[in-house]
Amino acid sequence: MNVAVRDLKIKTPIEFLRGVGPARAAILRSDLNIHTFEDLLGHYPYRYFDRSEILSINQINEQSEWIQLIGTITNIGEEGDGPKRRLLATLYDQTGRIELLWFQGRAHVKKTLQDGVKYLVFGKVSFFNGRANIAHPEIELYNQDINLLGRQPVYSSTQKLISRGITNRSFSKLTQALFQSIKPEDIPEFLPERVRQNFNLLPRAAALAGIHFPQSEEELNNAIHRLKWEELFASQLMIALVRQQHAAQVGWKFERVGAFFNDFYNNHLPFQLTNAQQRVVREIRKDTLSGRQMNRLLQGDVGSGKTIVALMCALLAIDNGFQACIMAPTEILARQHYDSVRSLLQEIDIQVGLLTGTVKGKERKAALSGIADGSIALVIGTHAMIEDSVQYKNLGLAVIDEQHRFGVSQRAKLWKKNTIPPHILVMTATPIPRTLAMTLYGDLEVSVIDELPPGRKEILTLHRLENQRARVMQFLKSEIEKGRQVYIVYPLIEESEKLDYESLLAGYEQVRIWFPEHQYKVAMVHGRQAAEERQRNMDRFIKGEANILVATTVIEVGVNVPNASVMVVESAERFGLSQLHQLRGRVGRGAEQSYCILLTGEKIGEDSRQRMKIMCESSNGFYIAEQDLHLRGGGDLYGTRQSGALKFKLADILKDSAIMEETRIAAQQVAANDPQLQQPEHQCLNSLLDNSGQQSYWSKIS
Ligand code: ADP
Ligand code: MG
Repeated sequence: MNVAVRDLKIKTPIEFLRGVGPARAAILRSDLNIHTFEDLLGHYPYRYFDRSEILSINQINEQSEWIQLIGTITNIGEEGDGPKRRLLATLYDQTGRIELLWFQGRAHVKKTLQDGVKYLVFGKVSFFNGRANIAHPEIELYNQDINLLGRQPVYSSTQKLISRGITNRSFSKLTQALFQSIKPEDIPEFLPERVRQNFNLLPRAAALAGIHFPQSEEELNNAIHRLKWEELFASQLMIALVRQQHAAQVGWKFERVGAFFNDFYNNHLPFQLTNAQQRVVREIRKDTLSGRQMNRLLQGDVGSGKTIVALMCALLAIDNGFQACIMAPTEILARQHYDSVRSLLQEIDIQVGLLTGTVKGKERKAALSGIADGSIALVIGTHAMIEDSVQYKNLGLAVIDEQHRFGVSQRAKLWKKNTIPPHILVMTATPIPRTLAMTLYGDLEVSVIDELPPGRKEILTLHRLENQRARVMQFLKSEIEKGRQVYIVYPLIEESEKLDYESLLAGYEQVRIWFPEHQYKVAMVHGRQAAEERQRNMDRFIKGEANILVATTVIEVGVNVPNASVMVVESAERFGLSQLHQLRGRVGRGAEQSYCILLTGEKIGEDSRQRMKIMCESSNGFYIAEQDLHLRGGGDLYGTRQSGALKFKLADILKDSAIMEETRIAAQQVAANDPQLQQPEHQCLNSLLDNSGQQSYWSKIS
């Protein structure tokens, strides 16, 4: 009960904090999602400014950011019209002068500024026409006793907040007021005493005080460490609990290795499985015999042969009287899987169904009824397969290809497709660094195909500049003459979609000029085509009727045309490393020497140059993924920024891998001893999970 009362204090609406009030509260809520005292505590400074450091004005340069100056104010006056109306003042010291300006709150500032008086000024420098200025500086009268010790926290803010007078300084004042109005005991502790002791972590109240008002470097570091630890622990604990639930989840038993599997394995397998493929099939076989639900991630580099593994597992399910489904992220991929599976199963009496967004009318009806009555044993498609309207007779296994496009919620939907949830096999070609895997797929068991089928030739990767284009095109002609096919890939990203389409179409026109109609056949696929048209063009390339496929990244995943041995990536500097690696995986699938040519402009940034270099040097997906992580930082990994599983305020899953390992062990111990979090000492963990946002993310699947 005591706890509840204390919790109440921290949950006080923010408008009741001294210095806030309804108007400011409304902006804090809308702009920064700060609703309560607790939320304000969680609005951490993102950096600190050393207040003892005073610059002289001539030390300001293009690199300057947050600075502190002492100078005299003069030339106070207003300028400009409408929204550009601004209050200007000049600040000078012995070394120079700089402009200060205010767009908002001018009347108030003007009243308080005094000409010819010395001020202490703090703010962020920007440059306009080569001249430095500071907009909306924090400014106070300078006198000898002013406290210049300690660090000034810098908080992220918005224009709107600043215009309402909520500056960086006010954040400090508000947090100060907050700490004055509560006691340390009012701040709930989220970590059990024992865990804190074992890992030598500050109490939560001390850590929060320390991050907002650090008195020393050491205190700040300890505070940040404790709060990062808490974040990563919340994530790892949630994952450990979900894992416990998976482990307790009853699953279908595939007891028999029956006629379908054996017939296929003995008579129709077009090649010998690699050792890695065999091992993975055995691992899956063991899972599906255990009586528990399988939740497994199959990781294997592009071209390592995951599809055949998925197919064999599907046969296993069908042998045991179940249906199986294979879900691909795009229409094109789904159809390609469908075609290749059908040809592999030609001699075997299994009905394969296709269900995607473009399967409509009669065809769709037939598919749906076959899926419902069980006559279709193997369903291949896109996420259209998991819509609520699709009823399976007896789904026993679901394979999700190229997982990084699917989130936890899609997996969760699959669970509901049978009375006992089907076994789940997630396949991904994106090699994921360990810490990322631990966070995104921590609830899954992992299998790895770490071996490519024999006879693959190394792909030769070259970086070429725009001024070498003619030679590149000449090279393509000579390869086409030898009977090979060529991909030409254009970047397409959401943020500049319109422009990207324009350059794709312009690029296509260029290609048509280099490769005239009467001699060469060129197909084009992109996301703005109707699905049928896209499929028709794709088919022309797959069947070898087109020499060249001009494409956006729709071909990034999975497409398999062994005769296509050359890939040109246009504006390659705009692609991430992992994406380039995925793309490159489309070639090197046949017996011929394959090439990947990365075309860029002559002037590219150092980062881009580095990426091209890595691509030319390595074809190892894991190495490339690690390098990618190093170059990009933890910000946006493989487009996973949106993933709720990765929402950390302080922790960085690359740099904080040591903390992550610690929290993982601690989380596993807690989950094993007390999977319901019922012990009194673990009560605080429920608040931790509630508070972290991890709960709402993972709850979909549990
Ligand atoms: P990915 O793992 O990228 O999905 P695929 O399953 O598409 O790879 O396989 C890539 C190519 O390798 C396909 O043409 C497939 O038929 C072939 N393949 C798969 N396994 C083997 C093997 N053991 N030996 C020879 N070729 C194989
Ligand atoms: Mg694949």
